[in-house]
Amino acid sequence: MYNVAQVIDEKCVAKKGCRLCIMYCPEANCLDLNVTKMVAEVIINRCKGCELCVIVCDAAKHQAITMQAVSSDGSLMKSKGESAALGQAYQG
Ligand code: SF4
Ligand code: SF4
Repeated sequence: MYNVAQVIDEKCVAKKGCRLCIMYCPEANCLDLNVTKMVAEVIINRCKGCELCVIVCDAAKHQAITMQAVSSDGSLMKSKGESAALGQAYQG
């Protein structure tokens, strides 16, 4: 199990021009603008769980990104309390 970033569409202010998370994500083709919905969007299978996007989004007081656990088959785990600890993301 590892964590990936997930954008909360209702809180994302990309339509007002914010691109902070997209600029700071160190992984290529991982966080991008969904031009249809005009919100930032994480490509789950590219996300390394570094949480940089959460930090910059929170620092800008938008709080539009959360970390969510992914099971070994690559599906998002919805229930709370199943998040992997920070640092586990890189353990394969
Ligand atoms: S930093 Fe937050 S508010 Fe800004 S585009 Fe990313 S998710 Fe949206
Ligand atoms: S957790 Fe890291 S790799 Fe994943 S979307 Fe955020 S900045 Fe990119």
